[in-house]
Amino acid sequence: MSLIGTSDLVHDAAAAGSAVAAFNVITLEHIEAVVRGAEAAAAPVIIQISENAVRFHSGLVMPLAAAAAALARTSGYGVGLHLDHVTDLDLLRQAADAGFSSAMFDAGNLSYADNVARTVEAAQWAHANGLWLEAELGYVGGKPDAPASAHAAGVRTDRAEALTFVRDTGVDALAVAVGSSHAMTTRTAALDHALIAELAEALPVPLVLHGSSGVPDEELARAVTAGMRKINIGTALNIAYTHGVRQFLDRDPKTVDPRKYLADARTEMAQVVEHMLHTISKPVTAG
Ligand SMILES: [Zn+2]
Repeated sequence: MSLIGTSDLVHDAAAAGSAVAAFNVITLEHIEAVVRGAEAAAAPVIIQISENAVRFHSGLVMPLAAAAAALARTSGYGVGLHLDHVTDLDLLRQAADAGFSSAMFDAGNLSYADNVARTVEAAQWAHANGLWLEAELGYVGGKPDAPASAHAAGVRTDRAEALTFVRDTGVDALAVAVGSSHAMTTRTAALDHALIAELAEALPVPLVLHGSSGVPDEELARAVTAGMRKINIGTALNIAYTHGVRQFLDRDPKTVDPRKYLADARTEMAQVVEHMLHTISKPVTAG
């Protein structure tokens, strides 16, 4: 199977009334864990690299993207490569050459008019270069370096505005604000399922849930039933990674070989990936 376009993965999930999970990766071990976890769950998956992760790697997108593409090709299931939360159009322009089939352009913290203008520019470039483009409307809070004003609790995407936004920008998918928030370390978020269903009914493009690490399993399953088609998960992997390292070093503080504790970190992350994929793809009754 190996590398599959994000567009195909999301389309197939939608046709099955399911969703595709997209995991944010920072290190090689994250990538290995996503591929292993997806194979264990026998499910397709999307590997995402965010602009913040690229910044962590000295602004270079290619090293991590090349590793992700190489590991994706070893998978027995479909793996998509997605460039996440791009604010810099120069970075977006590197996406196609780096092996990504899709990107999320993030102008969600701008005014509505500026969000539309910037997103139109990004979508036109993306489509001219064969990329599927996701955008955001109704800011999903909790990202580092975000303006404080954008963190207002209870931000929700407005249905009429979302419909106009999708028509005016020509984007292929929309990340919506329905109660989740980035970087949550507890799984306590309650989603607005009525709004998810309303948006899924009204919009001609698939819906994307960001900040899914903070959403409990049953809420995630209900969100998929209500119409979420791409579920983004980042923090949950970092919690598992850090837990694995911390447990190992607490047990054996003299260890200096990183392979020892990174193996545990990678195993814990793969277990999270497998669990999340079972949760998201499992059949649920609407509630
Ligand atoms: Zn996000």
